[in-house]
Amino acid sequence: MLNKAKWLAKEAALRVKYMTSKDCIFCQIVAGEVKTELVDQSEDAIAFNDVNPISAVHILIVPKRHIESVLKIGDDDASILVAMHQMAQQLVKDKKLEAFRLAFNGGSYQHVGHLHMHLLAGGNVKWNKL
Ligand code: AMP
Ligand code: ZN
Repeated sequence: MLNKAKWLAKEAALRVKYMTSKDCIFCQIVAGEVKTELVDQSEDAIAFNDVNPISAVHILIVPKRHIESVLKIGDDDASILVAMHQMAQQLVKDKKLEAFRLAFNGGSYQHVGHLHMHLLAGGNVKWNKL
């Protein structure tokens, strides 16, 4: 069994690898500490149903690495953004969505401080309800 110092060192190393934030609800979902309705998962991204959907399909596509917002995306994050969009592509195909919307909120429109893309489809998708 690991002693506490080793455990802390291991946790710190993992945190650097994935740049997680202890107090972040989406990091906790990525770590499996908070349960969610998982939709898809890849090396860099995870997709789960929004807990408070505003349309028939309301999926959040989230990078596993903790990036606070669109404003904090850096040069090193290009592959993560591609992974998120490819996951959206696959979901649109799998669910045969004829019309859909992908949205990022920012500033005071953003309520969870971990980058996420909303995939919305079905019913009356309204801008002002995001
Ligand atoms: P935003 O306003 O763009 O930051 O959107 C945050 C979204 O996260 C909202 O639509 C919330 O309903 C959703 N949300 C917050 N906590 C959870 C959770 N634990 N599981 C699933 N969705 C969540
Ligand atoms: Zn996070």
